[in-house]
Amino acid sequence: MNTGFAETEKEFQSCVIDFAKLNGWLVSHARPARVTVKGRETYRTALQGDAGAPDLLLARGGKVILVELKSEKGKPSHMQTAWITACGNHGRLWRPSDWDDIFEELSGAECGPVAGTHAARG
Ligand SMILES: [Mg+2]
Repeated sequence: MNTGFAETEKEFQSCVIDFAKLNGWLVSHARPARVTVKGRETYRTALQGDAGAPDLLLARGGKVILVELKSEKGKPSHMQTAWITACGNHGRLWRPSDWDDIFEELSGAECGPVAGTHAARG
C-alpha cells in the first residue's frame, strides 16, 4: 500500500486503520463528535482522564500497541509525547514516511494467530 497520497493525518489514519483491519488487528479510535459550545459549533471527544491519549489502540494475537499518528510535519503535543513515552515498548509515533516499518509491523505474523482463527491444527 502506497501512502504517498496521505498528506493529512486524517488520510494517513484511514490508511493505517484499513491496513490494520486487513491484517486482522482489532482497531479502536475515539472520534470527536460535533457539539455546540457557547453557541459555536466545534468538535469534542468525550474522554475522561489525561489529555493526549494515542489516536489508535490496536490489538492482535496478544500484542497491543498504542499509536499516535501525525502528518509528515505534525508535531506531537507535550501530553502526546508523555503518553508515547509512558507506553514504553507498546507506544508508537507513526508518520507517512514510516510506512515500511508500519507495513512490517502490521502485516507480520510474529504475534500468533489472528483473533477468531484459533482453529485446531492437525
Ligand atoms: Mg494524531
